[in-house]
Amino acid sequence: MIVAGDQQLLKQINRMALVRQLASVPGMSRAALAETVGLTKSTISLLVRELMDEGWLTESALRTTGALGRRATPLHIDGSRLTLLGADLGISAARIVATNLLGEVLAEQELAYSDASDADSCIARMADGLAALTASEALAGRTVLGLGIGLHGVVDDTTGVLQHAPHQGWRNIDVGAQLHAHFDQTPLAGLPLFIQNEANVAALAELEFSGESGTDPLIYLSINYGVGAGIIVNGRLLTGLYGFAGEVGHTILQQGGPLCSCGRRGCADALIGLQALMDEVYGKRQLSTPQLLEQLFAQANAGDAHAARAVEAAGRNLGVLLNNLWVAFDPMCIVIGGAALRLGERLIAPGRSVLDDCASATQLTAPTVRTPHFGHNAIAIGAAAMVRHYLMRPFDSQGPARRNSGKLGELPPALAASLHAWN
Ligand SMILES: [Zn+2]
Repeated sequence: MIVAGDQQLLKQINRMALVRQLASVPGMSRAALAETVGLTKSTISLLVRELMDEGWLTESALRTTGALGRRATPLHIDGSRLTLLGADLGISAARIVATNLLGEVLAEQELAYSDASDADSCIARMADGLAALTASEALAGRTVLGLGIGLHGVVDDTTGVLQHAPHQGWRNIDVGAQLHAHFDQTPLAGLPLFIQNEANVAALAELEFSGESGTDPLIYLSINYGVGAGIIVNGRLLTGLYGFAGEVGHTILQQGGPLCSCGRRGCADALIGLQALMDEVYGKRQLSTPQLLEQLFAQANAGDAHAARAVEAAGRNLGVLLNNLWVAFDPMCIVIGGAALRLGERLIAPGRSVLDDCASATQLTAPTVRTPHFGHNAIAIGAAAMVRHYLMRPFDSQGPARRNSGKLGELPPALAASLHAWN
């Protein structure tokens, strides 16, 4: 196990500081990097050479700068040699992607489940799909750096256990162990594996791959059957003491309001989530199938009075939640994502309107509210972004190491193994 102070870890911290710097400011020269990061020019040259050999960095043609005509070679993240794998273990299907280090999608696939209620078979389907994707022509000649998984429930990111996915009916599923067993004796064996909640990974996609690294704090509000958020503060995912940070679906918006699946009343989940909308429009006894959800989208978007009224009411409650998130986190930006985006402005416009009213009343400027950059692949691409995020932060006490380790500086075994492989 690597411990704090280990020379290899220090070297890896320095290497990844260069990669992070070039991810946020592409085109810097070695001299500019030395000045910004605070390492000597000879150390920078050595580390850059290694990172270029391994496929992290590339340089473009020389350019002449300054009055003296000094030549500086711009450095960039290399998108051509390394690969990140990401998967969204969704409610009715899995989506898998392979991206390069810049988040550009190299290959993607949707995988239908044979039985969505059977977690083991869904995980097996996803694992088989990932193995096939890795062996495909699209990834020929590339090195896979790691795999990220986004799950639709409460996740213990230190163990890879999905504790509860209320809308899939899954409990205590050891996704990490199942994947390790599936990948044993395959080219994916021993690959660094990171597992997180879907809203958290979608937030990481916006942080790592949107080209807006200065948008911080950032909140990704995911509205699906339920409501959750991924919260980025100071370039880190806020996970909280037990990994539950961002479970904003169970903040109470209306005391004594409708009963929530968690047992409380008046939670955001029970007022804004798509399950609550279906309950409102079709009655609580209906099975909430994907077909019923499609019917809800069709009816609401066609202007059906009952459905449109329910969506408008959910949108106004969304505005209350946006206000509360604004006040709690003072974010630069709130991204609204998830399947509820299919309701478009019918849901979001009332939310913005309530938020704007709050802003005028307080004479403050509300944060930007926008939709995600990555559409239907937001979670799968976010899962790939999570791999880059953690590999680029080898000494991240807020990362998956924090509770397993008990002491600062120990890394999750997968990450430690990958560091050994590099040094
Ligand atoms: Zn609740």
